[in-house]
Amino acid sequence: MNRQQVMHIGLDDTDSTKGGCTTYLAALLIEALEKFHVEFTDYPSLIRLNPNVPWKTRGNGALCLRFKYDDTFEEQIKDTATNLWEENSAIKEKGTDPGIVFLKRQEIPEELKVFAEKTETSIVTLKEAMALIKKFGVEACGFNSCRGIIGALAAVGETLTCDHTYELIAYRVPLNWGSKRKVDEASIFEMDKELQPYTFNNVDSEKRRVIITPRGPDPILFGIRGESPEIVKKAYGMVKPLEPVERYVIFRSNQGTDAHLKPVEALSKLEPYSSVIAKGVVSRNPRIVPLRHVIFSIKDDSAEVDCAAYEPTGSLRKIARDLIVGDNVEVYGAVHKPTQSKPLTINLEKISILNLAPKTVLENPLCSVCGKRLKSMGKNQGFRCEKCGAEYSDLTKKESALFRTLKAGLYVTSTRSQRHLTKPLRRYGLEKHHYEPKPMIEGWYSSLV
Ligand SMILES: [Zn+2]
Repeated sequence: MNRQQVMHIGLDDTDSTKGGCTTYLAALLIEALEKFHVEFTDYPSLIRLNPNVPWKTRGNGALCLRFKYDDTFEEQIKDTATNLWEENSAIKEKGTDPGIVFLKRQEIPEELKVFAEKTETSIVTLKEAMALIKKFGVEACGFNSCRGIIGALAAVGETLTCDHTYELIAYRVPLNWGSKRKVDEASIFEMDKELQPYTFNNVDSEKRRVIITPRGPDPILFGIRGESPEIVKKAYGMVKPLEPVERYVIFRSNQGTDAHLKPVEALSKLEPYSSVIAKGVVSRNPRIVPLRHVIFSIKDDSAEVDCAAYEPTGSLRKIARDLIVGDNVEVYGAVHKPTQSKPLTINLEKISILNLAPKTVLENPLCSVCGKRLKSMGKNQGFRCEKCGAEYSDLTKKESALFRTLKAGLYVTSTRSQRHLTKPLRRYGLEKHHYEPKPMIEGWYSSLV
């Protein structure tokens, strides 16, 4: 008697800087599994991991496929997945460490969920992953350093039961890989305008530039991110590709959810390679360093750290430049370890300005006779009016308040410099707090040529 089983396949780090793409492998695998009559129980997940790990490949994304299957096909399913993975992994490339894992069980163990969260926010070791693999009877395979096993396992563990988004990724025919992408840009601007706020990160409004098309030699033509499978599918219908689309898949993802950011209680608790939300008071005025980056310092009772707004952060850099000592802020970003020339630094993705300090200047007093601003006659020498000649020996400079153009509120880095995980302003208020599995929409993936 055949039995229905549930399998989760995790994949990571099969791409290299020279091309390839783990999502493409997932797309191929979805189609290859058709012949075993599997029933997908969720959209394939595209999980972005901690963007600050020093050894990441480009996007640091991992994937998971979840499905019911007939256990007579079990070995064939695993062979198919493993073979596809081997064929499509850049295993010969330095710095690419592909991993694949298989977990057979209905429910994801709590410990795997915790592991996934840790992989999104900080650094985990292969040893930790291997301990879980052993404990839960996961089958795993890796090449080179095998670090890809960490991501593959994390993708299985991340069930996206809290906030999540969707991305429809359309792929190019192999003939066009490496050449300039051809998509009607006006159709993308139109789609963005029509479907906002339910799709996001389509265009960079500061530079009026399309950002759904990547640049590298990978097979992706474009990816549309949004709040539901229906909306990204609708958006796909509005974008006009000017070259053939080979296939597309809708993924469920932690992109655009701030899943990488973890609040820290005190600045002394900041750890390199993590992404944090930290509160402090500006303790050193912003300074502009070469390449137009802006650096300022914040402190609390426990420590003082630098915050950096790099040039590509666009408007965020302009906001940072206007901060002054005493401003109360909450900063969001990646922690970089100190070097000989730089202290511990948070690379800003967002700033929330909680409270603005009063900005004052010291000014000479006004002439009480004619109202003109007085001239100083030298230190402690009093003041003199240049217009009417009156002299005042007992007056001192006066503090006066300056108007600050900066406003309290939340500021996010420019769209073009947002990380995959950064929650864009457009998503605020649209966050999901749970996940209700629903039947998957018709045509959530399709092979078109
Ligand atoms: Zn005067």
